[in-house]
Parts: sequence; C-alpha cells; structure tokens
Amino acid sequence: MRRQFLHLMTDNNNPIIDPPIDPMEAAFEQARKAKARGEVPIGAVLVDTNTGKILAAHGNRIEELYDPTAHAEMLAIREATLKRQSPRLINCDLYVTLEPCAMCAQAISFARVRRLYFAAYDPKGGGDDHGPRIYTHSTCHHTPEVIGGLREQEAARMLQIFFRNKR
Ligand code: ZN
Repeated sequence: MRRQFLHLMTDNNNPIIDPPIDPMEAAFEQARKAKARGEVPIGAVLVDTNTGKILAAHGNRIEELYDPTAHAEMLAIREATLKRQSPRLINCDLYVTLEPCAMCAQAISFARVRRLYFAAYDPKGGGDDHGPRIYTHSTCHHTPEVIGGLREQEAARMLQIFFRNKR
C-alpha cells in the first residue's frame, strides 16, 4: 500500500524511501485538526514531487481568520509559494479531502499544480467535477491531472458527521 504511494509520488523508478509519507493521510490529519478548531473538516497537503516531501499542510481556517477564502487548499498554496519564493508550484501535487470549490480549483490552475488528488466528491460545492467544472473551460490555461475518490467514503462520512452534529 505504502509502496504504491511512493511510486505515485515519484513518477519514475527512483522511489523516495525516507521519509515514507502518505500525503492523503496527512490531509486527513489536517481535516481532523480543523474539526477540533470548529472548522469544517477539510485538509490539504502540497507535496514536492522531486523530493516527495510535504511543502505545506493546512486545514480550513475560515472562522478563525474571518476569511471566506481561508480554505485548506488556499492556505497550503500560499504557504508553499512563499516557501518556494515563486507564484508557480512546478512539480507539486495537491492532496485534498474534498473536491475543491471553484475558487480553489482556479487557484490550483494558477499555481500550475501538476496533479490534484481528492477524496470525497462534492456535488453541491465542487468546482472541477461538478458545477462550474473550471478545468473544462478554454479560459483555463493550466489543467492539472485530477484523480478523485481516494478514501472517498471516509472523507464523506467525516463531513456528514460534522454537519449532523452542527444541526
Ligand atoms: Zn475552496
């Protein structure tokens, strides 16, 4: 299982052995931390595909920062671009626990993220497989490769429980 991930992460015959990380698990961890802060449990992790290392990991901070744009993906992109000292995240993959909204989908394109992995689909608020389908437009100049549905049920269940308890 872990080996498969390493293979995905490196895209060649040079698997990174140290440290063995599972980026989607790290994204779930961020989602759980967000939930503990009273935020919607969504987490995002950016991985540098050259090194296999995590560049940035965040959960939602919308309530905490009074910022409607403080989605996990936006915070991860901002931290990673700052670390890289570049507005473009070449050779980076993003792992998110929920299908990104239209704003984040567009930001992912602007940041030139190579590949987007997400867990649960979001028929109501998603922006790439649903709704605006940002990546299908001719005005979208960079389209990441999108792989949805990793640990889908687990992520969907976490969100369902969160919203059920809110009511
Ligand atoms: Zn978003």
